[in-house]
Amino acid sequence: MADIKKLGEFALIDRLCSHLKTTSDRVIVDIGDDCAVLDSPGRNYQLVSTDALIESIHFDLKSIRPELLGRKSLAVNISDIAAMGGVPHSAVIALGIPSTLPIKFLDRFYKGIAEHCQTYGLNLVGGDTVASPKHFFINITILGEVSKKRLFTRSGTRPGDIIFMTGHPGDSALGLQLLQSRRKKWKGPKKWQKALMTKHLDPVPRLAESCRLTRSKARISSMIDLSDGLIQDLGHILKANKVGAILHENMLPLSPALTHICEHNRLNALEFALSGGEDYELLFTLHPDDVKNLNRQFLHADVPVTQIGEITSETGVRISGTDRSKKILQSAMGFDHFRKNKP
Ligand code: ADP
Ligand code: MG
Repeated sequence: MADIKKLGEFALIDRLCSHLKTTSDRVIVDIGDDCAVLDSPGRNYQLVSTDALIESIHFDLKSIRPELLGRKSLAVNISDIAAMGGVPHSAVIALGIPSTLPIKFLDRFYKGIAEHCQTYGLNLVGGDTVASPKHFFINITILGEVSKKRLFTRSGTRPGDIIFMTGHPGDSALGLQLLQSRRKKWKGPKKWQKALMTKHLDPVPRLAESCRLTRSKARISSMIDLSDGLIQDLGHILKANKVGAILHENMLPLSPALTHICEHNRLNALEFALSGGEDYELLFTLHPDDVKNLNRQFLHADVPVTQIGEITSETGVRISGTDRSKKILQSAMGFDHFRKNKP
């Protein structure tokens, strides 16, 4: 494990994938994006992605209701389809089940799965069920489609493009902290505390927003979903395009819940916003001439879409704002499975 720890999650993936060679010209986008993209006759490409959730790493059976766990397992997968501008249609699921897990738990887990299948119009069409020695293990593979004309990937952005995100960064990570130390006397309004915990337990994939972007004429040059933290996921876009970015601290759409609860408990909201994982918001870059139109389109939207910075030719991420933010940036990292570094 020591070696893997040193390597980190992404270098490990790179190393493993160096053994592989893509041989089919049906593969339009392979390893390295939110979904793989496969060619298909007609107007659409096929999308496929997979995400695993493991007890005690991604969830704790004591703090999530089984229905919500079912919903979340699908939501995180739907989010990857949304990140490509696609729409999900089917999924398969593999479960590793410890014999101590009550059957009732699984019934309720499937109730949650069924709820999200209905909400997002997708079908669970297969899977696998095996015993697990200790922990509950969930893996979902999701399939979707995207118009060949409106496929969004992590590559394509250029200096001068404007960076946008949906929703609010950092809420889920603070929600997780609230859930993990429930005995601690958290200060601040209960309604904000609840809102943050809900963001962590029941994330809403931004499929509606993604569809709205694909229907618009906006020149979106790259897109990703935020699963590992704003800086880290923005970093994937920057790396794919060999560019840098400047983020404006005062433009980051911190939610009132994050701001209030951080203030009441002397926590640093900016740190959560920059490196907190599991927000499942969309981060995208846009041609600068399309900013006005896009802002108009999302003016009355339920979920805000906010301009937070620009792409630069100078590599790395800079944050304009106070000196404090520079310091935070140095320590701002997202989630890496082999280096535990959530805020
Ligand atoms: P996401 O956060 O969008 O789910 P990840 O950061 O988990 O994406 O993965 C980054 C990329 O690496 C994705 O394209 C994913 O399909 C690919 N990937 C992850 N793990 C492996 C693996 N063990 N073998 C091959 N590809 C992998
Ligand atoms: Mg993703």
